[in-house]
Amino acid sequence: MTTAISEHDLWLRILEKVEPDVKRPHFLTWFQNTAILSFENGLLEIGVPNMFARDWLANKLNGHLIAAIQAVNPAVQEVEFKVDPNLTLPEDNRATNVTKHFGTEKKPRKLPNKQEVKLVEGISSKCLNPRYRLRNYIVGSNNRLAHAACAAVAAAPGRLYNPLFIYGGVGLGKTHLLQATGNEVLAHDPNKVVVYMTSERFTNEIVEAIKKRNVKAFKDRYRRVDVLIIDDVQFMANKDRTQEEFFHTFNELYDNNKQIIISSDRPPKELNQLEDRLVSRFEMGMIVDVQFPDYETRLAILHAKCREHQVLIHAEVLEFIAMNVHDSVRELEGVLVQAIAETNLENSTPTVRSVAKIIKKLGRPAEKIQGFEAYAKGPSAVAQTPEDVLELVAQYYKVAPNDVISTSRKRHVMLPRQVTMYLTRYELNMSYEHIGTVLGGKNHTTVLHACDKIQAKLKKDKQLLRDVNSIKKEMGL
Ligand code: ADP
Ligand code: MG
Repeated sequence: MTTAISEHDLWLRILEKVEPDVKRPHFLTWFQNTAILSFENGLLEIGVPNMFARDWLANKLNGHLIAAIQAVNPAVQEVEFKVDPNLTLPEDNRATNVTKHFGTEKKPRKLPNKQEVKLVEGISSKCLNPRYRLRNYIVGSNNRLAHAACAAVAAAPGRLYNPLFIYGGVGLGKTHLLQATGNEVLAHDPNKVVVYMTSERFTNEIVEAIKKRNVKAFKDRYRRVDVLIIDDVQFMANKDRTQEEFFHTFNELYDNNKQIIISSDRPPKELNQLEDRLVSRFEMGMIVDVQFPDYETRLAILHAKCREHQVLIHAEVLEFIAMNVHDSVRELEGVLVQAIAETNLENSTPTVRSVAKIIKKLGRPAEKIQGFEAYAKGPSAVAQTPEDVLELVAQYYKVAPNDVISTSRKRHVMLPRQVTMYLTRYELNMSYEHIGTVLGGKNHTTVLHACDKIQAKLKKDKQLLRDVNSIKKEMGL
């Protein structure tokens, strides 16, 4: 990982962010001759020339300052001020001369005129999927650095990590991060021109341009870009003309401090089929990887996706999925989405058993599926006896079978009891008498009432319907 930014530049970037929030005379007075003294383990030490500056900054500006600092560098966790009178000495080259940098009034920012917007339309932000945001990207040790780098780039495109190169295996969240960064840039500043492209699409555009003999127009369009995002750059392998055009575009943008973000399935040095000069450009900025998430992060992703889809799934079902998907986040999400689809189609709730079936279809041998017994203790064949039904229902509702057949009138055991009776009656076709006898010696009228009650409730209570359908599935019916 390489970053080419000095502490002095970092401080300037932070000051640029703070400036609009502070009255001009205050800004010029209190930030004069300040500097970043050090940054280690998340602690940023800011040097100030005297205690007045320290007190003013610490009391009046702490919140703004910390927000600006974290926007520029999210790795900062704590800020400390240190008085260092040497900062006022003319020969002290750490101090920032804010009068020089910010003294003259800034020119108002030029808004892009209609024509400019139109010219870049064909390649503009339409390709960004609004679903991908940094805030719905779950962070774990596998992707923390990549996420932080993207957040930093989004806050200050073209100034911090340029290019930003993200690599990792298929389905680990690269496209999500790339698009989220683009979306974030536009959220900060809708006037920015953000272009997201797969390297295949970039190639196709070049081929088109060559065919139509308007390579120059192609080049000109890219000059207007503020943030260029190229996904899956490995597919430029062996495409010499594409690489050449990309090389020029890259240089042009880079020289103009425009942000470039690239993803690939492997680190730059392993991109053997790419020209060396291109690879060395990729190595100029920040290189970060994304890995497969650990169990806890996988579980957090599943919970987040459930919230996104607005569905409730039993915690142990999510745990079971998290435990058994080992290839990619895409697969993790795929299993969940299938489980949700089934739920909707069949009006049931995903169970460990139904999810295990989905996972088996992915080609994992049944004996490799972990934790199945711990979760799904019931009979694995078709349920045939009232005891089988009792066991499945008890397991589904997480109550002890003995409590279900007890005489307790507590709701958390009453409902499973009635459901057991109902399913035994209608799915196993047993008589009320028989059911009453085997389920704790109850009177046949008790069983009859229970069955009627559930039948009536099923017409109104959607959740109950889902639960009963799920248990039926567990029964192998
Ligand atoms: P890649 O581009 O690396 O092949 P994607 O970005 O397409 O992977 O990710 C595959 C799916 O997994 C996407 O739907 C994405 O939203 C999701 N995903 C991957 N990582 C995460 C994460 N950390 N948090 C939330 N969703 C993720
Ligand atoms: Mg991708």
